[in-house]
Amino acid sequence: MVRPRVILDPGHGGWENGFVVEPFAEKDVNLAVCLQVRDLLEADGVRVLMTREEDRELSALRRIEFANAQQADLFVSWHCDFLEDPGVRGLSVWVDSRCADPWQMMIFEQLGERIADVTQQAFLGVFQLRDKVLHAVEAPALLIKGSFLSHPEELADSVNPHYQKLQAQGATEGILYVLKEWQRR
Ligand SMILES: [Zn+2]
Repeated sequence: MVRPRVILDPGHGGWENGFVVEPFAEKDVNLAVCLQVRDLLEADGVRVLMTREEDRELSALRRIEFANAQQADLFVSWHCDFLEDPGVRGLSVWVDSRCADPWQMMIFEQLGERIADVTQQAFLGVFQLRDKVLHAVEAPALLIKGSFLSHPEELADSVNPHYQKLQAQGATEGILYVLKEWQRR
């Protein structure tokens, strides 16, 4: 069997912090989770490529070029969410609205459910957005918003290595599930 290839894309980096709740920045949470997902997937025989493995800035174009040079089976971007309302919490999955395939969205929904099962988070669902990177990446692509940094408890969880590991375990299960469904299609 061909070894599946997955690209992990930790959102933001370098001067681009993403959402910030002092002293925490989204870019660090995204990277910490993705590094753990990488280790877990590799332990399961998946070839993992990362758009960044340290704290550095990376343009949308560089992410796209990197992804499209790899012939990957799946592209997974990791982000956090933020709202004015500090009461909103949960995990969500996003796909580009211009290439939303109902079957793919159903499979991605399962991926989101796997993470939420492990972390005991609310799973908010699969949503569509217009995103330059998700649209231009040739591999099936999704973006996970792992938590709301605007929710005090989710913020505390998000920066906790133990919790990051749970999210990574759920994401790994979900990604393995997606790869298996891909092969069966
Ligand atoms: Zn972000």
